[in-house]
Amino acid sequence: MGSPVLHGWSIDVEDWFHILEYDRAPDPAAWRRQERRVHIGTQRMLDALDVRGVKATFFVLGWIAEVAPELVAEIARRGHDVGSHGHMHRLLQHLGPDDFARDLDHSLTALERATKREITSFRAPGFSLGPNETWALPILASRGIRLDSSLFLTTRAHGGYPLERSRPFDIVLGDGRTILEVPVVPLRVGNRDLAFSGGGYLRLLPKPVLQAAFQTCELRKTPAVLYLHPRELDPDQPRMRLPLARRFKYYVGLDGVADKVAMLLDRFHFGTLAHVAAATPRDLPLVLDGLA
Ligand SMILES: [Zn+2]
Repeated sequence: MGSPVLHGWSIDVEDWFHILEYDRAPDPAAWRRQERRVHIGTQRMLDALDVRGVKATFFVLGWIAEVAPELVAEIARRGHDVGSHGHMHRLLQHLGPDDFARDLDHSLTALERATKREITSFRAPGFSLGPNETWALPILASRGIRLDSSLFLTTRAHGGYPLERSRPFDIVLGDGRTILEVPVVPLRVGNRDLAFSGGGYLRLLPKPVLQAAFQTCELRKTPAVLYLHPRELDPDQPRMRLPLARRFKYYVGLDGVADKVAMLLDRFHFGTLAHVAAATPRDLPLVLDGLA
């Protein structure tokens, strides 16, 4: 049997109106006037984790740390890792290197002020670090980021980094610095990639399929990285009038998430992404030449 596989539990802490690439979503200038609900889902998540003694990695928007510093302080106080999810939830494709560095710095300042801790991990909004955005990696390294979880190892609407890896690996930059990558890895079934471990996929898949996907990961000795948002534990959140396909993507299956969270926490072993990396043999490094 050997020891059970340790899977990663991560939460991207943002509010119900932080929806990507929808031009009728509230403008950042109007964010402060929206009903703030991020604490509802975050508290539910913290309680579900605490009951089972599970620690997780919370990638928090810097903006949230500015408007709700006490919530971010509580996440840290309850023993979880706090990383950056950027400041204003901008996709890397929409930010050049200079704007990305500014947004990152802004988030790190707000998060470090709220947690009184050094922030050393990062996840790009929308997993938007693809092969065209590797310029972001040296910037992350220069700001002290040692663990990244921005790579979603398949093709996606925005971002997505198709790469043959199934476990955490080192990204080696041109100057020899490394960043530890804890990617989200879909399950390879035949010649297809099945994403299952978060967001709309997790909400859509029936519980037995979700359970089977995690069991398959265990048989293959590859950790799954679960990712959720506080709004997914807040079925009463206000609904935006999204186009049908997007409405489906954001709102399908909200009522079943709490139940799935409980099932997963009860049946499988989870920890922070740093714990997963420490417990898992590394996959092959990704060497990026010419990036300093
Ligand atoms: Zn996000």
